Amino acid sequence: MTTVTLLGTGAAAGYALYSCNSSVCRSKDDKDKRAESGILISTADTRVIFDCGRGVCENAIKYVYQNPTDKVLPITAVAVTHSHGDHWFGIDELCSGLRRHYKDQGATEAPLKLFAHDDTWSLISPTIGRLTKPTRGESRPPGLEFEPVIPGKTYRHGDVEFHPYSVVHDPAGSTSVLPGCVAYGIEMKASNGEPFSIFVGGDMCSLQLWDWQKMLGRAAKVDWELAIVEANTWLPRPESGHLSGQEAIEVLKFLQPKRAVLTHVAPLESHKTLSNHLKRIPLPFPVEYGYDGMVIAF
Ligand SMILES: [Zn+2]
Ligand SMILES: [Zn+2]
Repeated sequence: MTTVTLLGTGAAAGYALYSCNSSVCRSKDDKDKRAESGILISTADTRVIFDCGRGVCENAIKYVYQNPTDKVLPITAVAVTHSHGDHWFGIDELCSGLRRHYKDQGATEAPLKLFAHDDTWSLISPTIGRLTKPTRGESRPPGLEFEPVIPGKTYRHGDVEFHPYSVVHDPAGSTSVLPGCVAYGIEMKASNGEPFSIFVGGDMCSLQLWDWQKMLGRAAKVDWELAIVEANTWLPRPESGHLSGQEAIEVLKFLQPKRAVLTHVAPLESHKTLSNHLKRIPLPFPVEYGYDGMVIAF
């Protein structure tokens, strides 16, 4: 079966601020407990993560590997949208998990594949570049292998194909654009063998700040089965480095997927409150707020 599992649906702050006593940060509702970003694509042969925040590995154990069904497929690749830590801090753990898998299976080790824009790699490699080097005194391969992605080109890992699209995502309060930001279009086969596509947006800044229709024009031509788009807050914040829920809906109307899920949510409003916002506006197709552990099967 081909599935999309949301392993993390929170923003950089995670699900709660330790210093905050608001009803959201102290919520007992599991849907308000959001780890940082991460989406697991799982096909019959391949497991790939798109963005890998801090809590992603923990949630992979909780929602996927604690209940393995037929066979335990390892996660062999990660595609990163941009260089902010909430999108890649879990890579070290992913590398260790893959190594352990090969060891337990008695299989030949291979590195975890990391797909990201060259500019993203330049920003994160001072920290995780060491994983691409062989360990001193050991003959085993490195834990990580980087492959640059260029918007407009096509990449493949196992039976998952993906296409990067340039997007704009500013650090909040700054006028400089963060280099190397991409969204991904992902193509794979459903359980019945039919191909389908999903759009994974990553972080995008407020719509007033970039020519998003021009940049996403190519994406609007695709027949998306599902789009997963960030909705950091419900109301737009001028000059923000993030997309609000209201703006996400504008993007979704442009992309016209059959179904959409909002993610990357700041711990300011509860899942219930946010879902109520959606009920009050007309939507041309089903849109819902995601939550950690949400599984969509195809
Ligand atoms: Zn983020
Ligand atoms: Zn970001």
